[in-house]
Amino acid sequence: MTDTHVADTDDDRAERADHVCADCGRRFYTEDLLVLHRGVTHPEALDAAERDAYREAYAAEERAIRSFRLRALGILVLLYFGFLFLYVIYAS
Ligand SMILES: [Zn+2]
Repeated sequence: MTDTHVADTDDDRAERADHVCADCGRRFYTEDLLVLHRGVTHPEALDAAERDAYREAYAAEERAIRSFRLRALGILVLLYFGFLFLYVIYAS
């Protein structure tokens, strides 16, 4: 089996991407990434179990993104008020 896309990249990284899409041959590092790829790119080829796995992975991804946004917002608020208080203390 020859894969020209993988041949150019680092061999160690290519070996770790061992979750292969059955429809297009694309490789992924984790099972979740493969499930998400198949749900987005080949939705017509999914069976019931794969569809459930896709919904679960999609919901988990959404929770992770929401959590990241909240933490990012918290850090921005802390930085904003941190610099505001520094300005009040040292510039007055
Ligand atoms: Zn695919």
